[in-house]
Amino acid sequence: TPPRVVVVGAGFGGATAARCLAAGGVDVTLIEAAERYVTCTGSNAVVVGLRGIQAQTFGYEAFDRAGLSFVRGAANAVDAAARRVILGDGTALPYDRLILSPGIELRFDAVPGYDAKAAEAMPHAWKAGEQTVLLARQLEAMPEGGTVVISVPANPYRCPPGPYERASLIAHLLKTRKPKAKLVLLDAKDTFSKQKLFEAAWAKLYPDVLEYVPLASGGAVTEVDSAAMVVRTDFAEYKADVACIIPPQRAGRIAAQAGCADRSGWCPIDPVTFESRLVPGVHVIGDAAIAGAMPKSAFSANSQAKVCAQAVIDLLAGREPESPKLINTCWSLVAPGNGISIAGVFRPTDGLLADVPGAGGISPLDAPEEVRAQEAAYGESWYRTITRDVFG
Ligand code: FAD
Repeated sequence: TPPRVVVVGAGFGGATAARCLAAGGVDVTLIEAAERYVTCTGSNAVVVGLRGIQAQTFGYEAFDRAGLSFVRGAANAVDAAARRVILGDGTALPYDRLILSPGIELRFDAVPGYDAKAAEAMPHAWKAGEQTVLLARQLEAMPEGGTVVISVPANPYRCPPGPYERASLIAHLLKTRKPKAKLVLLDAKDTFSKQKLFEAAWAKLYPDVLEYVPLASGGAVTEVDSAAMVVRTDFAEYKADVACIIPPQRAGRIAAQAGCADRSGWCPIDPVTFESRLVPGVHVIGDAAIAGAMPKSAFSANSQAKVCAQAVIDLLAGREPESPKLINTCWSLVAPGNGISIAGVFRPTDGLLADVPGAGGISPLDAPEEVRAQEAAYGESWYRTITRDVFG
């Protein structure tokens, strides 16, 4: 029989990998638990009512035309010794190589008081869908003069600039539609992605609205009380009208079940093939992987999927995979129509993915408005291109 590859998760990483493998003539099965995919990318605009959730929602119909076999259902377990994936209904799917791209699991054991129930009052909105809509509704209904609290975890987590884009857009909403309202941004670290650009934008656009509290000033949340809508740190207590708590995260559960996650909760991989360092024959891509200097982004997951698919094709054919170079670009909005970006190029170095020195770049601090408007437009067109690439 020809070699078989199974891919778990039809998000940015998994769907891309499965399509590339199918295009390369490999017998591939793609497994996805959800009924449809709602992109996190762009969801901060939904949170503040700039776009609808429908514009973020994709069906899986196009996979039927991609020459792969698509299975709707959860992968419950991986039997790595027998090289089989077990589905929820007990079906066993044998594989020669397995690719896991399950995304993240939110750690509801990390912030005292913040569990799945508390997230119904204090949304994380870090997995797009109902949570995104809930946060949008709460902001819409918030009284004038109210307080929004956002809490950001320490690294690593999905989408490093995402919380700061969210804070910027919420500050814009408060400034334009909720007079005298305030936003407190509590951070469990002191430095973050595109920091100078974000801070310059906040100083210029939202000086009376947004208060940033880094770790050194007591930004780490120690406890939340979702009934009283209180967020506590070692230094202070904040009473919130709306609280968005972004908890620490780890690799999606199936990755840990398969034995691919280490004590950090994330999955160490070989940077040439994305094969797990812990479980032979299983590859891990996207947010779940420890990809060195590469951030956890949809752009990264898509780049990694293409590299991993080619490596799997090579390994199945008995060829040695070539050492890759990968790219990531993350656009963020500091206000509607006002964008900034950071781009990087990465290659395997000493067993990890490291920055290629001198490649990549970041938006200039003093760019004129036209450039910022252009960056916002590039971000939009990237979104259209990547969702077409992944979901057809
Ligand atoms: P996912 O896209 O989460 O896909 C995982 C899939 O696996 C899901 O569909 C899930 O249902 C499925 N799954 C999990 N376990 C199982 C199982 N056991 N069986 C079957 N199916 C399973 N990235 C950017 O590049 N640009 C941005 O502008 C950007 N903005 C963002 C804004 C926000 C607010 C957030 C939260 C994230 C943003 N991201 C952005 C990050 C991006 O969404 C993720 O990095 C990306 O989705 C990772 O892809 P993935 O394939 O690893 O996981």
